[in-house]
Amino acid sequence: AAAQDSIYEVSVSPVPQGVLCAFEDRSAWEQMDQMRRDFVANVSHELRTPLTALLGFIETLRGPARNDAPARERFLVIMASEAERMNRLVRDLLHLSRVESEERVLPSEDIDIAGLLRSVTVSLRPVAEAARVTIKLQGADQPLLIRADHDQMTQVLTNLVENAVKYGSPAGAEVQLALAPEQGPRGQQLRISVTDQGEGIDPFHIPRLTERFYRVDGHRSREKGGTGLGLAIVKHIVNRHRGRLIIESKKGKGSRFSVLLPYEPR
Ligand code: ADP
Repeated sequence: AAAQDSIYEVSVSPVPQGVLCAFEDRSAWEQMDQMRRDFVANVSHELRTPLTALLGFIETLRGPARNDAPARERFLVIMASEAERMNRLVRDLLHLSRVESEERVLPSEDIDIAGLLRSVTVSLRPVAEAARVTIKLQGADQPLLIRADHDQMTQVLTNLVENAVKYGSPAGAEVQLALAPEQGPRGQQLRISVTDQGEGIDPFHIPRLTERFYRVDGHRSREKGGTGLGLAIVKHIVNRHRGRLIIESKKGKGSRFSVLLPYEPR
């Protein structure tokens, strides 16, 4: 069963409608400015690392490795993976900037969220199989219509399930993806949860996981192809849907990420 030692709710407050931020005091403004500068510094650092590696390999290929065919092959493989890393980072930065700019616009599509869960499960099966993890789907047999953005919800579930597979799910483990309508404090709501049997997260880190570039272990995240932006993107999308993101985790046992969405049964 799920890990419930430390529970943290990431997005509670509804996004203000039509309110431009007016900073009353200087310290709030300075804080925003500092955040912006940190972000630019982080992006530069994240891009520079693979770029430096690429430039280094180019030098070696021009010089010492010029006539060493096996070394050339090896270096090209590494270079391709560094270039892919930059590609993922730029892709996630674009996603993040798009979801941030759309956050105030309510989604207007009617989508079958159960079908969406099924298709995410199918498309992530190869990733799960490579890690020898099984994705179990619950509650998604019947169509269930909600007002949501199809591509963004796909992205939320993809990010959450990929993380569940990536972060320490041991071989043979299960990742559970479940969908269930329930009674919430403000009427009916839909709960979509992703539960893993992975390494769990220290409570100290949980409140910060949705910050851009925040990682518990930067080395591991990069090794697994992470950009550190996945949960920041999730948070903005959930906010746009007037939903809530709840993170529960128990170190050594696993984690559960739940998205609660407003829901009117039809
Ligand atoms: P990344 O690209 O690094 O995966 P995310 O924003 O998706 O970035 O996640 C931020 C960090 O949260 C990860 O680096 C990882 O340390 C932690 N994390 C996310 N999901 C899980 C999980 N299911 N179990 C354990 N740790 C997780």
